[in-house]
Amino acid sequence: MVTATLPKQQVKIGPTQLLINNEWVESASGRRFETINPSTGEVICDVAEADAPDVDKAVQAARTAFNQGEWRRMSARHRGELLYKLADLMEQHKEELARLETLDNGKPLTDSLNIDLPFAIACYRYYAGWADKIQGKTIPINGPYFCYTRHEPIGVVGQIIPWNFPLLMQAWKLAPALAAGNTVILKTAEQTPLSALRVGELMIAAGFPPGVVNILSGYGPTAGAAISRHMDIDKVAFTGSTEVGHLIMEAAAKSNLKRISLELGGKSPNIVFADADMDAAIAGAHNALFFNQGQCCNAGSRLFVEEKCYDEFVARSVEQAKQRIVGDPFDPHTQQGPQVDKEQFDKIMGYIEAGQREGAHMLCGGDRVGDRGFFIEPTVFAHVRNEMKIAQEEIFGPVMSIIKFKDIDEAIHLANTTMYGLAAGVWTKDITKAHAIANNVRAGTVWVNCYHVFDTAAPFGGFKQSGIGRELGEYCLEHYTEVKTVTIQL
Ligand code: ADP
Repeated sequence: MVTATLPKQQVKIGPTQLLINNEWVESASGRRFETINPSTGEVICDVAEADAPDVDKAVQAARTAFNQGEWRRMSARHRGELLYKLADLMEQHKEELARLETLDNGKPLTDSLNIDLPFAIACYRYYAGWADKIQGKTIPINGPYFCYTRHEPIGVVGQIIPWNFPLLMQAWKLAPALAAGNTVILKTAEQTPLSALRVGELMIAAGFPPGVVNILSGYGPTAGAAISRHMDIDKVAFTGSTEVGHLIMEAAAKSNLKRISLELGGKSPNIVFADADMDAAIAGAHNALFFNQGQCCNAGSRLFVEEKCYDEFVARSVEQAKQRIVGDPFDPHTQQGPQVDKEQFDKIMGYIEAGQREGAHMLCGGDRVGDRGFFIEPTVFAHVRNEMKIAQEEIFGPVMSIIKFKDIDEAIHLANTTMYGLAAGVWTKDITKAHAIANNVRAGTVWVNCYHVFDTAAPFGGFKQSGIGRELGEYCLEHYTEVKTVTIQL
């Protein structure tokens, strides 16, 4: 592990109030909360804190915008044009948004600039293109009737997003919902409220009518829970932990049976066979785990390596982890910034202790970096067994667990021995093995000889307790539309 440092950078902070009905307002309670710079532990600024009364107010604005007004009358093509315009504005403010994201979240600026921003912008453009292509069918039913379907927006949608990719998750949520004609109340994660608010400002500039997008900063058990139990919200889309996913589903069931889509946790198997291109597999497995400080729901956090190449793979992975540059996320050389907050930092350190207690071999890392902020050394555990806590629970940090397997049957069995099913990877030159893994591992995405390859056109989501529904691509649109059947006597 190598550290990098640079002097403190100036970053422009955007709005800090709630966005309701295209107006910036304080919360009903007048309360505000602090957002922290994870690189230093210092306060960046405070933001208005939404709670149930603010959710009510935002829902009213969204309901009015959905039922009547400009949005209701707007053509689908025009909705698409607004999304294109937003994407253009984000592109014009790319550097500024990337800096704000890095300040609030701690991810390296090079990642914010080269990954989060381009992908968020691409997502708005992709769904802008869909807006006027969401269409029903004509159905040849029996009798003298003309029968057709309309794919209508669901209505008022609540969206709750996490802190690991704040701008990107905002785009994954808003773009398809708006393309389909819904109105939205979006709640950001309490750790990272700032970039979404700045995008809210750009949405007003792009011309989205009042009430179409409302953005609330606030906590989960208050503002988040108020959204998931609200009687006048027609659907909730959530990305976050499986634990909270259960609460959202329960609240939806107990309130108005609102539709839900959930993108939850993962403990994704990444399987390396001895016949793989070893250089590519080692680099790929490193990126699969350590990218974004290990804070990815789809991180390749159970790394299964075939017995025949296990020792070599472990030794080289440890070398690579030791080379990773941890430090100031504004330094262009930095590969790994701080974890998002103290809570995550403590949780990860707890897992590192648990790994040692359970007898896994910690071959590098294990400590904090520096004496301020929430930096953790890239950590590698070998001789991990699949039943250990570090192999079953989501760590969400820079902690690699390498598990040995004998043959393909054992690899598939171990890969599937988890409550999760978000993603999987396989590294092999043997196409038969690649297909066997792709077909038999129960996960929403399987990457062969690659990892973390996302595209806004390719669906993403989980099997089992990793979620319900799919984001991205055409598949996502069905989660933002209701199908109406119209039958006309001829
Ligand atoms: P993490 O543990 O990674 O922070 P969470 O699932 O707790 O993940 O948080 C993801 C999002 O869910 C955040 O916006 C958070 O505020 C929200 N959230 C947390 N608890 C609840 C809840 N009880 N109801 C609704 N949303 C919640």
